[in-house]
Amino acid sequence: MSGRPQPVIGLEVHVQMLTETKLFCGDVADFAAEPNTHVCPVCLGLPGALPVLNREAVELACRAALGLGATVQPVSAFDRKHYFHPALPRGYQITQRHRPLATGGAVEVPLPEGGARRVGIRRVHLLEDAGRSLHDRVPGSTAVDLNRAGVALIEIVTEPDLRSPAEARAFLVRLRQMLEYLEVSDCSMERGSLRVGCSVSLHAAGGGDADTRSEIRSLTSFADVEKALEAEIERQRQALSAGTPSGGLTLLWDAGLGQARPVGGEEAPDYRYLPDPDLPPLHVSEEWRRSIELGLPEMPAERGARFMADYGLEHEHARSLIAGRDMADYFEAVARSGADPAEAAAWVMGDVRAALSAKGGRVVEFPVRPADLAQLLALLAEGVVSRPLARQVFARMVETGRPPAQIVADEGLLTGA
Ligand SMILES: [Zn+2]
Repeated sequence: MSGRPQPVIGLEVHVQMLTETKLFCGDVADFAAEPNTHVCPVCLGLPGALPVLNREAVELACRAALGLGATVQPVSAFDRKHYFHPALPRGYQITQRHRPLATGGAVEVPLPEGGARRVGIRRVHLLEDAGRSLHDRVPGSTAVDLNRAGVALIEIVTEPDLRSPAEARAFLVRLRQMLEYLEVSDCSMERGSLRVGCSVSLHAAGGGDADTRSEIRSLTSFADVEKALEAEIERQRQALSAGTPSGGLTLLWDAGLGQARPVGGEEAPDYRYLPDPDLPPLHVSEEWRRSIELGLPEMPAERGARFMADYGLEHEHARSLIAGRDMADYFEAVARSGADPAEAAAWVMGDVRAALSAKGGRVVEFPVRPADLAQLLALLAEGVVSRPLARQVFARMVETGRPPAQIVADEGLLTGA
């Protein structure tokens, strides 16, 4: 072995999609509802109930795959993954193990220390969620809520292209941003819309790999992903230098304790994957794929590049503005209403963002219309209002939603007046 061994990290991300109904039945996909109110024979696993694939879920999954640069396969298929869980009444979960929906994409990830890392996407496939165990509803007992059973998910599996916990986090930030632009998921960490598993091993620079690979499951925040990876890499380093590396561990992250603990035995679980005889192969025709592709939005990286080219914005400003699609839309509407782009960018990143976070609202509900902000910036450029006065007027616009010229006239707020 030569040199310090380097971490090699791959991620698996489960994404809950914004479909109206579940993946294989007509129940509404709303698991925040009163427990067990959105269930039917299919998701309850009653004998003889047959799954019917949700077309909207296929479209959203294809959208995600195409947005991540992956190739949608003309034919994919469904398999049963068998395991015991109290919230899995059928005794198996339907997934796409052998023939995934899409394969082979890549994401360019801007890194915190500058530069970028190209992360390969190995596969994107459809699967259904399991139900939930509720530990706080019935004193002394665990209850089962099956509203989430059968909700449509995709799993996105990366190549092991990430080299540090910080890179893993940067990838997740970019992935979430892309999925938001694609309107595939609400990407809410609180509601568990994104759940992450990591595989990590240490590789010596000069080859001679010892088997240290382990998996960490069920991470529900990006901060936990980073923390869990750091802790696991340190554990592997110590085991390596002590000459006792142990591969094949599966760890479960306990966010409360801030620690990973091993689960199960030494052997990998045997899920006995079998093709699902109830579901025919999934065909995505060339025509269908092309129509989904035509509906793809401009993605964050392209939008950032266009903001620099069209509006002459600096790289950092463009990057900050495209962080959320709503904010980028808002900026663009202000700039298109005739405001100076650099001035508009400064206001959107400064006063608008601050007012929004103070109000806790969403950009689409923001009381200041983009055209009104452009009008305020025109008054400022013409010297009708000074900069401190412009900020006062802006604060009144946020409170009242009225246009700036009206506020200036009604309240006698002229510079020098
Ligand atoms: Zn159902």
